[in-house]
Amino acid sequence: MIRKVLIANRGEIAVRVMRTLREMDVRAVAVYSEPDAGALHVREADEAYPLGGTTSAESYLRGEKILEIARAHGVDAIHPGYGFLSENAGFARACADAGVTFIGPTPEAIRAMGDKILAKETMRKAGVPVVPSAECHDGDTSEAVARRAEGVGFPLLVKAAAGGGGKGMRLVRERGDLPAAIEAAQREAQKAFGDGRVFLEKYIDHPRHIEFQIFGDAHGEATHLFERECSIQRRHQKVIEEAPSAALTPALREKMGAAAVAAAKAIGYRNAGTVEFIVAPSGEFYFLEVNTRLQVEHPVTEMTVLRDLVRAQVEVAAGGRLPFRREDLRQHGHAIECRVYAEDPARGFLPSVGRLERFIPPSGPGVRVDTGFAEGDEVTTYYDPMLAKLVVRGEDRAAAIARMKAALRRFVILGVTTNVEFLHECVAHPVFERGEADTHFLQTYDLTGKAAPPPDEAFVAAALAGAGGDERTARGGSGRAAGDGRGNPWRALSGWRG
Ligand code: ADP
Ligand code: ADP
Ligand code: MG
Repeated sequence: MIRKVLIANRGEIAVRVMRTLREMDVRAVAVYSEPDAGALHVREADEAYPLGGTTSAESYLRGEKILEIARAHGVDAIHPGYGFLSENAGFARACADAGVTFIGPTPEAIRAMGDKILAKETMRKAGVPVVPSAECHDGDTSEAVARRAEGVGFPLLVKAAAGGGGKGMRLVRERGDLPAAIEAAQREAQKAFGDGRVFLEKYIDHPRHIEFQIFGDAHGEATHLFERECSIQRRHQKVIEEAPSAALTPALREKMGAAAVAAAKAIGYRNAGTVEFIVAPSGEFYFLEVNTRLQVEHPVTEMTVLRDLVRAQVEVAAGGRLPFRREDLRQHGHAIECRVYAEDPARGFLPSVGRLERFIPPSGPGVRVDTGFAEGDEVTTYYDPMLAKLVVRGEDRAAAIARMKAALRRFVILGVTTNVEFLHECVAHPVFERGEADTHFLQTYDLTGKAAPPPDEAFVAAALAGAGGDERTARGGSGRAAGDGRGNPWRALSGWRG
């Protein structure tokens, strides 16, 4: 029985996990760093305990301290969210050793999939198609590396074995650039993951990133909950995700789903996970990696298959059987998620900090907002600058896009600069609307300075009235100079952008 769960995370995902726990009548325990003492995830918890520290390393990455709190307060299970300790096999093992249930896969599965070289080898043996690649060792002569690179073919990617979050990756179009790219990737990987190992992977041009939600239980059952299309990326990081993918035919969906389940079964996968694939314009698909945790973009799956993935995680972690059967699962309508960040697209996506003077997320039929912030909260540089995930569902893709555009125009955020206008430009772009955007979309079309339609005036007027409007619009929040509107009505409303 799981009656009390500690969430070893912060922000929107901690809050989102707590909402489900509450529905399940399970007590929610928060942990927090010093800057997060008054954060929403602390306010919403049944109990909250300090970790001390400000940086992630001093707080949310302190596995031992978190386990100590869990033991001291009768916690049955730990939900790791995403990021932080979620893909740390040592932490999952330490939980098991301490008699606390880790809500996630086994330490063995985490370890096996955390190494991309090992993961690809495992999947190749299981008959899952993988991108052609070659190893790359420390003592290799430059001739040996060059020979193996020729085998893979150019262009190619140098990738970190321990990679994640788009880090430790270098695109190499010509052989002359290879040695410098390898060195740079090794350095970045060493710094980010404490593991500098890299490998070479064939670069698939103009691909789509399509991933499958997988779920397994401790009784040997595994299934998939369809795909998510995540091709809208900036620096290999997802910005907009949707389900279903406009690129999949029913036949291809069936084939990829079967490959995802084969991948899950090959490693005896338990709990929620994601099998990421890259799909070439030809329709060939290749395994990329398995993320052994709940994914940031899991809401688009929840909104289309109409299941609560966190509830299923808790049930399966408690030893229960998979709460859904393959034949009962269907995709209903279409869902899109936009990641709303405190950043300035016009200034190279520079993170923006400050107090959320006004924060009014949109609501209405088919609109879901997952956030760890409320009005008056402070946005700092200590953690990820994601403010919210705006998720909408419509009867079909066109309806979902229309709903997303309208919802973005009603999202009132004053005090920091955000990417809301940029997101609007993305979903309003004809290539996106036609469902043709591949992973090159954001590089191909520079949407950072485009004139967008103004925000929903009535809505913003109401928000500003509530905030003592005129003074605020005149002052602005981020110090953007008055007259920096450049003919763009969103910017003219300087207070809107911050
Ligand atoms: P997704 O967005 O598909 O869930 P990502 O790989 O982008 O997956 O990572 C999700 C979150 O976890 C992001 O906030 C990212 O910054 C963080 N993250 C990913 N890998 C690591 C890692 N190795 N160490 C620390 N944080 C990570
Ligand atoms: P991470 O662990 O950082 O998420 P991934 O291997 O999942 O790393 O790759 C992240 C993104 O980089 C993919 O979603 C895709 O856009 C791009 N990418 C990765 N591998 C390839 C490849 N072989 N060819 C083209 N693009 C790739
Ligand atoms: Mg990935």
